Amino acid sequence: YFITFEGGEGAGKTSVLRSTEKKLQELGYDVLSTREPGGIDIAEKIREIILNPEHKEMDGRTEALLYAAARRQHLVEKVLPALNEGKIILCDRFIDSSLAYQGYARGLGMDEVFAINQFAIQDSMPNLTLFFNIEPKKGLDRIMVNKDRERNRLDLEKMKFHEDVYEAYQQLIERFPDRFRVIDADQTIEEVEQETLEMVLQFLNK
Ligand code: C5P
Ligand code: MG
Repeated sequence: YFITFEGGEGAGKTSVLRSTEKKLQELGYDVLSTREPGGIDIAEKIREIILNPEHKEMDGRTEALLYAAARRQHLVEKVLPALNEGKIILCDRFIDSSLAYQGYARGLGMDEVFAINQFAIQDSMPNLTLFFNIEPKKGLDRIMVNKDRERNRLDLEKMKFHEDVYEAYQQLIERFPDRFRVIDADQTIEEVEQETLEMVLQFLNK
């Protein structure tokens, strides 16, 4: 099964993904965790290009195409082979991030961004997508207490942008109700981890 973790900044996706991987392994599941953009050499290099703060002049469509290119290579090189081996894939971000960030918040249009991503992934949509739900302001407050790296990021992307990302995810949840599950990310990390594990096990055992 292909399971993706989605949400805005400071929602806890990355750390909850790690703990979910560990707990599933302890229960005997064959799990592979990975992230986007990245997860393999070519895609990590594309990630560096996209996220380089010196590349302020990058055009929005160029950015969307680079995300889609990184996604394609990561899918073909890592995700699909692992799925064929029967593994459970936990992926930090996937197509919904592009729909929310580039399609909606950056204003390219969700349908247009969906179209280039369909070209990139063909029919490989996730089986389950967990949305880590936290008010954008609260998520941002969380990462403000962390590293400078995160603080720089915030200078690039202002509050309105994060509210748009949040709004976009709400639309995606309505559009893909079969695939999306909402996790309350405004709880302690232990509670979020527990809720996530329960959600994944419920899905795997259904
Ligand atoms: O998932 P992670 O927090 O590592 O994402 C790195 C950065 O890339 C974030 O600042 C996020 O806002 C941005 N991003 C984006 N568009 C995507 C995926 C991630 O702008 N499609
Ligand atoms: Mg993260």
